[in-house]
Amino acid sequence: MYVTRFAPTPSGPLHFGSLIALTGSWLRARSRGGRFLLRIEDLDAPRCPEGMAERIISEIETLGFDHDGEILTQRYEIPFYESQIAALMGKGLAFWCSCTRKSLRHSPCKCYLRHEPPEDTSGMSVRFKPDFPLERGFDDALLGRVEFDDRYDFLTLKRADGIISYNLACVADDIRTGVTEVVRGQDLVYVTVRQMALCKALGAPCPHYLHLPLAMEDQNFKLSKQNRAAPVLELFSPAQALIEALRFLGQKTDDLQPSMEPRAILARAAARFDLLKVPKKSAVPVFSDKAGAGAKTAS
Ligand code: GLU
Repeated sequence: MYVTRFAPTPSGPLHFGSLIALTGSWLRARSRGGRFLLRIEDLDAPRCPEGMAERIISEIETLGFDHDGEILTQRYEIPFYESQIAALMGKGLAFWCSCTRKSLRHSPCKCYLRHEPPEDTSGMSVRFKPDFPLERGFDDALLGRVEFDDRYDFLTLKRADGIISYNLACVADDIRTGVTEVVRGQDLVYVTVRQMALCKALGAPCPHYLHLPLAMEDQNFKLSKQNRAAPVLELFSPAQALIEALRFLGQKTDDLQPSMEPRAILARAAARFDLLKVPKKSAVPVFSDKAGAGAKTAS
């Protein structure tokens, strides 16, 4: 069965860019009669303000999106991630590393050559070193063949400050929740081949991938919480936000009205979701005239 997920980092409220990933992944799952999972990626606690996960979950509900099963909140799952890191260490596929970004600029990491684990691991990170070559690329459901000349740099599994890395937690959770296709923004294309290697090292088959176009603030910057894209529900009503997201994803919207229930809009959009109409290229969103004055401040 088809399974995908939406996995926001609750560093700020939902913005138009995250709404695109949410809408695209939900439509893909529902249009294929698949499961849609929700996961809160809040391991980097200093980046995630108190109460933000709850706010995002309530925004997702207000927008009319349903999901299957329990919400997986990563901050409660640290022992699981530690067990995955221990398993990789046991197989010789992870090592303690004392390099810093600065030291790596001057000399390459040789920490993996150490035979015994260090006595004191405080301030050290754990990094991944597969004993097999990385794939050259992958087949993306939207983009087609994506290839990288990726110089492998020992993906971090656990940071020197003790925080479990996004890559480890993401891959381990995708595996255990049975995700068959990862649908997310194109800002994560570059890490996919390395996540595939991690998946293989953890003994699982790789999921498929679909990387959606990004909503850009201008030609060079994606909209994100870091560059303070406005909370989408402060710009638009829930129904209008959905209509704008569907338009951005190239879907039919001319029979959708802001007066409609969000759930009715989503049901109609899922029934006729057409991946072939989704643009491959990221773009600056052009909001519809109907969106009202609020939209103009965002464009
Ligand atoms: N948590 C990531 C984000 O909010 C998404 C990770 C993913 O979908 O793989 O950008």
